[in-house]
Amino acid sequence: MAATERDYYETLGLSRSASQDDIKKAYRKLARQYHPDLHAGSRKAEMEKKFKELNAAHEVLSDPEIRKKYDRYGHRWQEAEAYEKARQQAGAGPGGGMGRGPGSASREGFDFGDIFESFFGGRSHPGSESGARGFAVQGEDLETDVRLTLREVLTGVSRRLELSQPIPCTACGGTGRLRGRPCSSCTGTGSLAETRTIDVKIPAGVQDGTRVRVAGKGQPGINSGKPGDLYLQVHVESDRVFRRQGSDIHVALPVWPWEAALGAEVLAPTLTDPVKVKVPTGSRSEGKLRLKGKGLPTASGGHGDLFFTLQIVMPASFSEEDRKLYEQLGRQPRPDPRGDLLRAARQG
Ligand SMILES: [Zn+2]
Repeated sequence: MAATERDYYETLGLSRSASQDDIKKAYRKLARQYHPDLHAGSRKAEMEKKFKELNAAHEVLSDPEIRKKYDRYGHRWQEAEAYEKARQQAGAGPGGGMGRGPGSASREGFDFGDIFESFFGGRSHPGSESGARGFAVQGEDLETDVRLTLREVLTGVSRRLELSQPIPCTACGGTGRLRGRPCSSCTGTGSLAETRTIDVKIPAGVQDGTRVRVAGKGQPGINSGKPGDLYLQVHVESDRVFRRQGSDIHVALPVWPWEAALGAEVLAPTLTDPVKVKVPTGSRSEGKLRLKGKGLPTASGGHGDLFFTLQIVMPASFSEEDRKLYEQLGRQPRPDPRGDLLRAARQG
């Protein structure tokens, strides 16, 4: 508890308004950077010092209760607390005191251990170097993007991912310098990126923007610290044919006027093989056909549906024969198709 100690927030590179999550993240990031096992030579001693400072800052700020006390009293919060406590007990009347006046409740004469046990339920002394515990560092969480096609969403997919993580440079032993010059292998940083390959399974039916957590596949911990987790940010590519809506799939299906009029059996695409679908007699444009269970898997274990939206299309070319047939159709008596429209417009 030296008076010259750096501000804990400064040590973590954070402002006083940082959230508990910010503190956790900053700690993990710096712990990896400073960990003495990742450094050698003159840098090692320097990093050991920084690492101790970092652990001290983290132990205090990671506990919201202790953090409050630190915010109030600064580095001397333990003494301030002890002093408060002693004064209260001394002032509690005959027999309730500590056997000394408050003025003598000095650092040397006071058993902090008892106080901390009663305050914090047997927690270790914050700010101290708590041996192995202080040096076990949890691995950092990693995040990576995964792009999937709709067909991959249908079946689920295995992906081989290459993740890179820093390891000490072997050429310079992590010092960043070689024969007085910056090490060329690591460009003076003291660490190199090591590539790790892992296989991940992405479940079927995953939605665009989903974050899939792969437990324990983040960066490894140090000194029996737990590994971090790997998060996969899923991006589902838009498809030229199939439009997704939740677990349903929509496709525009072109049909000739005579197929719509007379009904037809036509070959239609699905996410797997094409299937034959029945276009009913007298189908209208924008009419929908549904193939039950041919959509994407749902969270509840079922499947969405595949919808075809009929689009009545005209042939690109027009023969003399076509003209005759259309003229024949046009001579048939039938109501004006714009009748309803004209009536509605008049009333509007
Ligand atoms: Zn190097």
